[in-house]
This record gives sequence, structure tokens and C-alpha cells, in this order.
Amino acid sequence: MPKVDELRRMIAGAENIVAFTGAGISTESGIPDFRSPGGIWTKYKPIEFGDFLASAEARRESWRRKFATHETLQQATPNAGHRALARLVEQGKMTAVITQNIDGLHRASGVPDDKVIELHGNTTYAACLDCRRRYELDWVRKIFAVDERLPVCTVCGGHIKTATISFGQSMPEAEMERAHAVTLAADLFIVLGSSLVVYPAAGFPIMAKRNGSRLIIVNRDPTDQDDMADLVINAEIGATMSRAVGVN
Ligand SMILES: [Zn+2]
Repeated sequence: MPKVDELRRMIAGAENIVAFTGAGISTESGIPDFRSPGGIWTKYKPIEFGDFLASAEARRESWRRKFATHETLQQATPNAGHRALARLVEQGKMTAVITQNIDGLHRASGVPDDKVIELHGNTTYAACLDCRRRYELDWVRKIFAVDERLPVCTVCGGHIKTATISFGQSMPEAEMERAHAVTLAADLFIVLGSSLVVYPAAGFPIMAKRNGSRLIIVNRDPTDQDDMADLVINAEIGATMSRAVGVN
């Protein structure tokens, strides 16, 4: 596989690698891509953030959906793709993993919290929308199990929501700033499993390339940014990255 050899050479020659991951890296862990045909977002209309705030029924519906898919997510474990990135972080070659995923699998694979930038938040826990206090899902589930009662913050009374960024909700400022900073410092930017259609997240590979970084795209299907990339590999991420990095 000459393309994997090229990937290995480019990784070896880089000093400041940034990964940018999307749903494709987690489908190999059994987490469905919500946007793909048959995915949950094609069956249900997404709940807009404004509706969540305005309507108790929308909040109940969002918790119903959350707990309907919760088991799948809880059982998912990191795959070879996640482990390859964790190895590169451990070696000091990879400075950050920017992710569109909300499944927490990069942290679960051993990437330290301060090296993971979750642009769309995290669905493995909840938080108060007003004071940001963290709440665990088991606590929410116990409350919701009784006549679908809605959880409210025990400190300030605010609405509690999974710690994700919903449609219509503004992007998290601190994460966006960190993602900018690491992107501008990268000499190699690797996109893994993102079709690069959701902005502003999809702007980071363009920013890296314009700033002089090399760009690699590993994805099952072609993307709109393939023309800009120095290397494009349309293959499974786990198999490709484990060969390139030497992990199982
Ligand atoms: Zn609160």
C-alpha cells in the first residue's frame, strides 16, 4: 500500500501534527453516523436549541432520544483509529485532536483532556445551561424515569441538557479559540472520518492548508476538500492508521 507508506513518511517528518476527526472514526466503534442515510437525524427532525429552551415537551423529547441511544454509546470502546492518535499524542508528535464527535472516545482512548478539543460538545454527561455545573446521566435518568420529570439545576434552577452543541446553539468560544491556535501551529493536519460539510468546523483544514501546513484526508468517501489535500486515502481509518503508526 504505497499511500500508507506515504502517510507514514509524512507523519515521521512532521513535528506538530493536529488531527481533525468526524463521525467516520467512530462508526468503526459501532456508533452510527447520525447524518448518514438511515441515521437518527434522517428519521427525526433535530431539536433546535431555541425549542429546547422554550418548550418542556421539546426538552422531554430530547431526553427520550438521548436515553433511547444511550446504551449503544455506553458500550462503544475506542478502536484502532483512536488508539493510533493516542499513540501519536503520547509520543509528543500530535499536539491536539480536534473533534466533531460527541462520544468521548478520544478521551477514553487515553488522550489527555487538555489535548482533546470537542467542537460539538460531549454527550456522555450533562450540564446546567446557566451555571455550567456538570451532572451525570445516571442522575438525570433516575429523575426522568419518574413520569418524565425534567431535571433542573440544584444550584441555580437552570435547564439541564447534555453537554453537546445543538442546532441553533452558538459554538463554544474557548474550544473554537483553542482549535484556531493549534491549527495555526500545525505542520501536518490530518482529517479522519469527516465529510467536511459542517461549518464552521470544516473551516479548520482550509485554515491549516492556507497557513502552510500539509493536509491529509483519510475518509471512506471523497470530500469537497480533496483537491486541496497533499494526500487523500479513501479507506478504513482503523486499518490505515494502525499500519501507519504501528499500533493494533
Ligand atoms: Zn445551574
